Parts: sequence; structure tokens; C-alpha cells
Amino acid sequence: MSDKQRIGIMGGTFDPIHIGHLVTAEAVRREYQLEKVLFIPAADPPHKQNLPVTLPMHRYIMTILATYSNIHFAVSRIELDRKGPSYTIDTITELKKQYGLQTELFFITGTDAILELATWKNVDLLLENCHFIAATRPGCGGTLDSVIEYFGEQGRGHIHLLATPELDISSTDIRERVKQGRSIKYIVPENVENYIAKEGLYRT
Ligand code: NAP
Repeated sequence: MSDKQRIGIMGGTFDPIHIGHLVTAEAVRREYQLEKVLFIPAADPPHKQNLPVTLPMHRYIMTILATYSNIHFAVSRIELDRKGPSYTIDTITELKKQYGLQTELFFITGTDAILELATWKNVDLLLENCHFIAATRPGCGGTLDSVIEYFGEQGRGHIHLLATPELDISSTDIRERVKQGRSIKYIVPENVENYIAKEGLYRT
């Protein structure tokens, strides 16, 4: 492993953030020996332009509440403070300027998102400038093969799969549970559960 600084970027809509995201970020941090993991809530997710997404401010606050107790985690406002769709290439370009060109960036997200990578803005430049870690459940690893092959050498060198513990949790399921009045205890951190209740999120 090189001695360059290595930073993880946990990109997501986080609507809401949950235990699965936290377990994944910690697993990637250890596996790839990352100095820290920056959680970056997407203000305006590019592929959700016509879908209802909770206000960025709520998603940002919940991300802070969920991560503050881990000294290796931090939350960035980089996409919240930028206008327009939250393209990952703009974020990576900004972070490269901030941390220096030598720093290796590891963008961590779900396998489903990486399956659509070919449609992302400036994807070739993106692959040149960062690694992608696709979090996948054990046993589902084969699904990215076609994406990796599509990008050839760049794909083989820069797209990685990491099997994360079998946590069958999704933000969609959490929103549905709240709507139905079912419990989300232990699926999100307690302070996030309290915030959702206090702000009345996901009830409709
Ligand atoms: P999504 O479509 O809502 O999520 C796809 C799947 O990945 C879901 O199962 C989701 O589960 C999971 N997931 C999302 N973020 C994850 C994370 N950090 N770790 C583990 N699993 C994760 O995807 P999204 O959250 O809106 O987008 C993911 C990231 O890709 C964002 O940073 C977004 O800005 C970026 N993106 C960029 C472009 C572009 O630049 N053109 C296009 C698309 C996406 P949960 O619902 O439980 O999170």
C-alpha cells in the first residue's frame, strides 16, 4: 500500500443516514487504511431531479448526529454550499484542490449507484481522480463485473467491491417504517431517531 494520504468520501443522499452507512464507512476505513471518512450529503442528487428528497438541512443535521462520536468521521458541506445538481466530479475536483493532488480519494457508495456510473458526468475524469468502493452484501459481488469491464483498465484499477456485513437496511425502508408508525429503533442511531420524531420527518 502506498504512503500517500488516503481519504474516504462517503457520498449519498442520506435520507436518512442509518446504521448500514456507518458500519460500511468504518469497514472501508479499516480495509483501505483511510485517515478519515468525509460524509458528504448530496444537496441535489443528480439522478433524483424529479423525486421528492428531504430538505438538505435535515439530512445534513442527521448526518452530523450519526457521525460525531467517531473521531475518524467528519461531515462536509461541500455539496450543500454549491448550487445546482451535486455532481460528484465537481466535489472530487474541489477536494483534490483542498487536500492536494497526491492525496488518494476513495468514493464509497452503494453498488446500485455504481451500476449507473457510465451515466455520471465526466466519468472518465472521475475515474482518473478517485477510486470507487462499491459496498455490497456478501454473495452479491458478481454484479459489478460488467461495469468494471466497460471501463477497461481504469475500471479494473479504480472500481472495487467491498462486502459489508449482512445489514439489510435501506433509507427507503426506514422512511416507509416511519410512515406506517413502525419502529426504527437500532436501525438508526438514537439521536437520529429522536430528530426524525421531533421534526416529524417521513410521516407522509
Ligand atoms: P441512491 O440511488 O439513493 O442509492 C443507491 C443504493 O446505494 C441504495 O441501495 C442506497 O441505500 C445505497 N447507498 C447510497 N449511498 C451509500 C453509501 N454511502 N454507502 C452505502 N450504500 C449507499 O444513491 P444516492 O445516495 O442518491 O447517491 C449515491 C452517491 O452517488 C451520491 O453522492 C450522489 O451524488 C452520487 N451520484 C453522482 C452522480 C453524478 O455525479 N452524475 C450520479 C448519481 C449519483 P440507502 O438508500 O439506504 O442509502
